[in-house]
Amino acid sequence: MKHIIIILLLLISFSAFAQTAENIIIITTDGFRWQEVFTGMDSAIANNKKFNQDDSAAIFKKYWSADATERRIKIMPFLWSMIEKNGQISGNRILNNKVDNANPYWFSYPGYNEIFTGYPDTAVNSNAYPPNPNSNLLEFLNRQPKYKNKVAAFGAWDAFDRILNEARGKFPVYSAFDLLGGIYPTATEKTINALAKDSYKPFGEAEVLDVFTHYGAMNYLQTKKPKVLYISYGETDEWAHAGRYKDYLDAANMVDKWIHDIWTYVQTDPFYKNKTAIFITTDHGRGDLKKEEWTSHGSDIKDAYQIWFAAMGPGIKAKGEVKTSQQLYQKQFAQTMATLLGLRFTAEHPVAEKIEISRD
Ligand SMILES: [Zn+2]
Repeated sequence: MKHIIIILLLLISFSAFAQTAENIIIITTDGFRWQEVFTGMDSAIANNKKFNQDDSAAIFKKYWSADATERRIKIMPFLWSMIEKNGQISGNRILNNKVDNANPYWFSYPGYNEIFTGYPDTAVNSNAYPPNPNSNLLEFLNRQPKYKNKVAAFGAWDAFDRILNEARGKFPVYSAFDLLGGIYPTATEKTINALAKDSYKPFGEAEVLDVFTHYGAMNYLQTKKPKVLYISYGETDEWAHAGRYKDYLDAANMVDKWIHDIWTYVQTDPFYKNKTAIFITTDHGRGDLKKEEWTSHGSDIKDAYQIWFAAMGPGIKAKGEVKTSQQLYQKQFAQTMATLLGLRFTAEHPVAEKIEISRD
């Protein structure tokens, strides 16, 4: 009898270990460096007058600690508590844990193409590239009966209509200043639409401030209950290009807060609770040379191919900060995410193999 109970307990725990997620929320923050993710604020950059807009006192007060693990918590407190405890974070090159772009360009459209198609197509070589000929994971999921019409994407940058090929994919892509709610917006959607329309537009018409993308996505999550949701934040890249280090760190800090808000909602809503995985990454890295090139990226910027990712949820092993020597690629993310949902992503183009992040 005792033995039967033990075997039953083993079987129950085995099925819990083997579980896959029902839903996935994919989050990217554009061009946010692994250096800040793993070691926090860089004092050499923060002290440079060119990059601190005469406000180094405030930035040190908010983000500085002599200890790197203390420092990184100040920028991303949710990542370095809940996700570190219950999920995994890869890309700390100090520990020889490497995650790279496989594409040779190290800028946005090629990076997002690589994340969602699993195929670092060298023909995709411009941010002005036309609608993506390569089919992506989101449209693949939208073709599965379980996920049909339960997929949506929200991007601060207007290029996502092309990157995700909205016309072909047949799932909604709300990018930049796209109006929420179609012809019958709810009161909340009307408010978000009006606020975005009348907001400060530091990036012109091509990119909206992250706050509008976030609240649009959050409202959609709560009211439409998508099973697959992608949210792309853009300010980390924009403020870095502008050489505004405090704004760059503040943007990342806010993304971390919003991930916390998303997770809190997910874990208190019966539709999502304990059935939803989150996958967080970036499209490309940035430079570090002479503490000057952090503002930039692209194939002429040393080390701008260096990225990171984090994941948490059902079926994902709680490895915390992954400290093993390892070489992973962005092209592996698409199949990794499909695997979290118990699916195998197939397309008309090659798809790179998954990363082993599941429980074993
Ligand atoms: Zn950029």
